[in-house]
Amino acid sequence: MSNFEQYDVVVIGAGPSGALASSLLVQKGWRVLVLEQQRFPRFSIGESLLPQCMAYLAEANLVEALHQDAATLGFQFKNGAAFHRAGYDTAIDFTKKFSAGPGTTYQVKRAQFDKLLADNAQRQGAEIRYQHSVKSYTDEDDGATLLVEDAQQHAYTVKGRFVLDASGFGRVLPKLLDLESPSNFPLRSAYFSHFRDNITDASFDRDKILITVHPEHQDVWYWLIPFSDGTASIGVVAQAARFSAHKDAEPSEILNCFLEQDANLKRLLAQRELIGPARSISGYSANVSTLYGPHFALLGNAGEFLDPVFSSGVTIALKSASLIAPLVDEYLRNEPVDFQQRYAQPLQAGVDCFRTFVSGWYDGRFQDVIFYPQQNEQVTAMISAILAGYAWDTDNPYVAQSERRLAVLAQLCRS
Ligand code: FAD
Repeated sequence: MSNFEQYDVVVIGAGPSGALASSLLVQKGWRVLVLEQQRFPRFSIGESLLPQCMAYLAEANLVEALHQDAATLGFQFKNGAAFHRAGYDTAIDFTKKFSAGPGTTYQVKRAQFDKLLADNAQRQGAEIRYQHSVKSYTDEDDGATLLVEDAQQHAYTVKGRFVLDASGFGRVLPKLLDLESPSNFPLRSAYFSHFRDNITDASFDRDKILITVHPEHQDVWYWLIPFSDGTASIGVVAQAARFSAHKDAEPSEILNCFLEQDANLKRLLAQRELIGPARSISGYSANVSTLYGPHFALLGNAGEFLDPVFSSGVTIALKSASLIAPLVDEYLRNEPVDFQQRYAQPLQAGVDCFRTFVSGWYDGRFQDVIFYPQQNEQVTAMISAILAGYAWDTDNPYVAQSERRLAVLAQLCRS
């Protein structure tokens, strides 16, 4: 390896946003280097995809590979979301959504899913260096230079005409360039693991994520994401203070303790067996002061991360890659590009729509909409489209005027 190398695009991180952006840019003929600090496959949280993802995966010709490998990799077909609150069940069917586009997707093991995307980018021509970690960023007139450290702690520099930060919670450029800004959401934590679920209830629908509201605390909720091999990802989310009584306990004890508190989950998961280490993550909601600079843009979680509740993370990550790739292509061809108008604003519009419904979930308004017993078919289709990830479809009135529409709907449901 020479001391100084030059690429058209250097991508930090080979997660979903980095892998998709790399695929799309090599398809346009650019030399792309991906620097990934871990070895793949590696664990990542965030297993429930939304159907909107499939449209972005199609841009990188990945849908066929996903369908083909799904069964072998334990990926579970997914067509909606089920909800449970204090003895009451309801479900949203994504195939009956308002917006055009795919209505089904998968619940994926992220270690395998992320590897599938990264391998695809590599096959299409991106160079990926695993266990190479980006340490610093220096902006220059004609691009940016990154200081990189490999697994043997050898440091070297590499130059990109443009840099895409797809480092997820690593948030490399927000930290290095002081772009971090606080999230509007309070500090929340999640405890989670993979289980052999051993669910015997024949009415349990493995084709849907199950979201359960804690029987006493509306701001505490659980996810149950079944896979096709009899395993499942299970987790609980609450404000960090709710876990403080358990501060000396192991993550698996905390998770099990909360699972026992909901009667339905306790019954469904009576035979569960923990098959992986239980983990926790805290303070994951984050924001930035800008999504781009002279020679960089932030993708996926390296930009903003809202909240896990509606599984919007990977969808937003893939949307950011799909939006940025054609703009970087134009930029590299020396065409003027307005990143504010064509990247930050459109990306933010969908994120803001999700934000409305996430806020409404925690303050209880959106929960009351979801659990309202006399659903209106047309309204449900519009809500279903948002939960399926179509948060950029402004033909949907609940996207175009999300705040006002949610407020009115919640009021109707409550009265
Ligand atoms: P990542 O997938 O995080 O990839 C970033 C990559 O960058 C990593 O591989 C990392 O190793 C690498 N990296 C970091 N630092 C460096 C460095 N210095 N140098 C080189 N490489 C580096 N989303 C969903 O869609 N569905 C869900 O069900 C869901 N559940 C979630 C549950 C919880 C509790 C949380 C916290 C999040 C959840 N998410 C979910 C969100 C989802 O995990 C993320 O939004 C998604 O992984 C973001 O993808 P990304 O490409 O931006 O980053």
